[in-house]
Amino acid sequence: MFSLPPFSELKELVASRTAGDVLHALKSPHPDLSDLAALLSPAADGFLEQTAARSSEITMYRFGKTIQIYAPVYLSNFCTNQCLYCGFSAGNRIDRRKLSLEEAESEAMILHNRGFNHILLVSGDAPKAMGVDYFEALALRLRERFASVSIEVQPLETDEYARLFAAGITGVAVYQETYEQKTYKEIHLSGKKRDYEYRIDIPARAAEAGMREVGIGVLLGLSDWRADALALGFHLAWLRKRFWKTAFTVSFPRLRPAEGDFTSSMDVSERNLAQMLFAMRIFDQDVGLILSTREESRFRDGMIGLGPTRYSAGSCTAPGGYGNPDLTGEQFSIGDHRLMAEVCSDIKNRGFDPVCKDWDMTFQLH
Ligand code: SF4
Repeated sequence: MFSLPPFSELKELVASRTAGDVLHALKSPHPDLSDLAALLSPAADGFLEQTAARSSEITMYRFGKTIQIYAPVYLSNFCTNQCLYCGFSAGNRIDRRKLSLEEAESEAMILHNRGFNHILLVSGDAPKAMGVDYFEALALRLRERFASVSIEVQPLETDEYARLFAAGITGVAVYQETYEQKTYKEIHLSGKKRDYEYRIDIPARAAEAGMREVGIGVLLGLSDWRADALALGFHLAWLRKRFWKTAFTVSFPRLRPAEGDFTSSMDVSERNLAQMLFAMRIFDQDVGLILSTREESRFRDGMIGLGPTRYSAGSCTAPGGYGNPDLTGEQFSIGDHRLMAEVCSDIKNRGFDPVCKDWDMTFQLH
């Protein structure tokens, strides 16, 4: 089981790093967790240009001039948990809807026809409304049509992940939201998600089941971002040691306006987010870094080539919202409203290739 040093120690570790530690981390051929702490520290803020340059150099070397493009397909907004920051939270009065298999397939095919080959199936945590049987049946319908199908749904057991992998799901995203246990309890009021320990072991369960890719992340704005990003580094390093065959991604979604009007006093600026992305890239040269449509187009365009390797595009966060854009009941409001074609065109204008397909399910099936 993964366990972290106390969150207060992570905060202290980051706060105590000096400019000398930052320079050491920038020069290190194999940065460790202490280097990551330095790159996340207040002392590193004055070195943002140097960290951006180092992050860009590594990204070019490991990933080339490419950005992978994907889109989410929201399947259901029913949820049994109460998470203060989420539009789907059980206490919110929103239009609840779950897509039938036919409707879900139709939503996915709208994305397919727009040119998407990588999709992420998303649902709230309500196993009675939508369980493993449903995900398996949908995966079997979609597996031949998409290069990859991943899920961001309720936590599952290892054998359930293995079953979905066999059906064609190749990736799982599951975010801890915050690694600070006190805050975690305060914002997760009820439901299974309230169990911090249970959740923290889900990425390992997905990797153990054989998933090709596992995504971890924190929701920025819930707690101290520097310590949360360092905790992510600890988690990533622990997973890498045990699951060397699995590819990992890290995501740093920032809080967005959502039903329930949750507000936080923990502001995380674009500059902070950039520092985090650069630090994680320098710490782990192979990790996929995701920058979603939560961020505005100006910021996403500016970050091309500096660290992120995957962008969502043309996203809708309400179930059924691609076929019917008037539907409400979204999880949160997005920041980048461009269509996929516009996102791709802006990436190309910066001399990069938007990659809609870099993996094919047939690699796995044969
Ligand atoms: S964050 Fe996930 S578990 Fe929590 S309310 Fe939203 S959909 Fe449900």
